[in-house]
Amino acid sequence: MPWIDSNRCTGCGICARQCPVSAIVMENGKARIDMDKCIRCGKCHDVCLQDAVRHDSERFPRK
Ligand code: SF4
Ligand code: SF4
Repeated sequence: MPWIDSNRCTGCGICARQCPVSAIVMENGKARIDMDKCIRCGKCHDVCLQDAVRHDSERFPRK
């Protein structure tokens, strides 16, 4: 399941425009993924220039 690292996200909105099911909404200048809509296609991860779209396996440990 993808998630957004808000420390990296610049709020550029690229991922929201590219998401095929409009699962990404912008909130307070950051992207947020609606998990109910997300089909886990991975496109947001591919297009994010900041590497802000992470995956569950990256939640921990953080080096
Ligand atoms: S593409 Fe990356 S930096 Fe831009 S809004 Fe999406 S998650 Fe944030
Ligand atoms: S993985 Fe695909 S469906 Fe899910 S938020 Fe990213 S672009 Fe949208």
